Amino acid sequence: MDLESRVKKITLGHEQGSGAPCLKCKDKCEGFELHFWRKICRNCKCGQEEHDILSSNEDDRKVGKLFEDTKYTTLIAKLKTDGIPTYKRNVMILTNPVVAKKDVSINTVTYEWAPPVQNQALAKRYMEMIPKEKQPVAGSEGAQYRKKQLAKQLPAHDQDPSKCHELSPNEVKQMEQFVKKYKNEVLGVGDVKLPKEVDGPAEKNKSSDGDKSTTATIGALGDQLGTPKEGQYSCYRCKLNMKEGDPAVYAERAGYDKLWHPVCFICSVCKELLVDMIYFWKGGKLYCGRHYCDSEKPRCAGCDELIFSNEYTQAEGQNWHLKHFCCFDCDCVLAGEIYVMVNDKPVCKPCYVKNYAVLCQGCHNAIDPEVQRVSYNSFHWHATPECFLCSCCNKCLIGQKFMPVEKMVFCSVECKKKMSS
Ligand SMILES: [Zn+2]
Ligand SMILES: [Zn+2]
Ligand SMILES: [Zn+2]
Ligand SMILES: [Zn+2]
Ligand SMILES: [Zn+2]
Ligand SMILES: [Zn+2]
Ligand SMILES: [Zn+2]
Ligand SMILES: [Zn+2]
Repeated sequence: MDLESRVKKITLGHEQGSGAPCLKCKDKCEGFELHFWRKICRNCKCGQEEHDILSSNEDDRKVGKLFEDTKYTTLIAKLKTDGIPTYKRNVMILTNPVVAKKDVSINTVTYEWAPPVQNQALAKRYMEMIPKEKQPVAGSEGAQYRKKQLAKQLPAHDQDPSKCHELSPNEVKQMEQFVKKYKNEVLGVGDVKLPKEVDGPAEKNKSSDGDKSTTATIGALGDQLGTPKEGQYSCYRCKLNMKEGDPAVYAERAGYDKLWHPVCFICSVCKELLVDMIYFWKGGKLYCGRHYCDSEKPRCAGCDELIFSNEYTQAEGQNWHLKHFCCFDCDCVLAGEIYVMVNDKPVCKPCYVKNYAVLCQGCHNAIDPEVQRVSYNSFHWHATPECFLCSCCNKCLIGQKFMPVEKMVFCSVECKKKMSS
């Protein structure tokens, strides 16, 4: 590609983040370039979330929009300049004096997000309770994990019709209703508290003020185990007790009679920590945004958007917008065409033959996806008497026992011996 067309190609990148490096492919990707309608990079075909695309500013706007018109508006601020809601993520900066010999230096750690609680000691303890590689310390693996989960769990195209591709006015209307409904009924943000501070209705039979006559009866079993009192609080997910003094996560939508260990506050489908404790509560289960939406609407395996149109294709156990059941390599429409699944993605026959077809060890030609083949380890043959035959005596081996040696196959020990001698 000459310089001029290259420059043009880059400036034409219609979306934010073009040119961002792929965290998975590193140098192999020339830089992020958004596919026309798939949410993937045209260069390396990885998802947006694998690229370092959205600045934290853009992430904050996305989450800000999610909380707009909800009961969580205290978590957002509207910018004076453009009135766009922005997420007021709680950044926590901890400073620890480090004493080395005579010098005292200050070591600061910045958490890009921390539970928005008054008591910083609780937020700090919360962080200690999640694995180090998931703690969103600025510049660390954990911060990258958080960013990736933001992209994965809360796709902008699940909440904002303007981030979707060519929706009809009716689809826009349906999507707006869908988003409004989940904002009102299922979306929530976890709350970090000490269990003993929470006086939920389920606690009413239990002593909360240390009254001796009542604790004696409930405490009987607990005393035997040497864990009095805190036995009252068990995690909704793992059923294990909370340790005395450790904070738990509560979800208002689930009710304050339920609580979770910080590491147990995860999506019931992808099992990832709910990013920034943003959850969707449905049928007694916690979901991330993506998996809640998947439980309500079909999602197009081509463009990753939810499908609001009544007409769509089901193929290969996945759903597709009619216009998006396309070859993963050349984007030609596959309806009524022959296609081959490669790594769960449909590929048209010409692309398959060009890019993926396996070679026959007999005739050294590509094996057409529709014809019968014999495969052994990573070797393949046309299932014909001309191709699948003894490498020594040329006897047809179809339906026969055979002995493979690397790329060769033999009908008998004798033939094998003859060839190896
Ligand atoms: Zn990549
Ligand atoms: Zn890429
Ligand atoms: Zn737990
Ligand atoms: Zn999930
Ligand atoms: Zn689609
Ligand atoms: Zn193709
Ligand atoms: Zn062949
Ligand atoms: Zn033979």
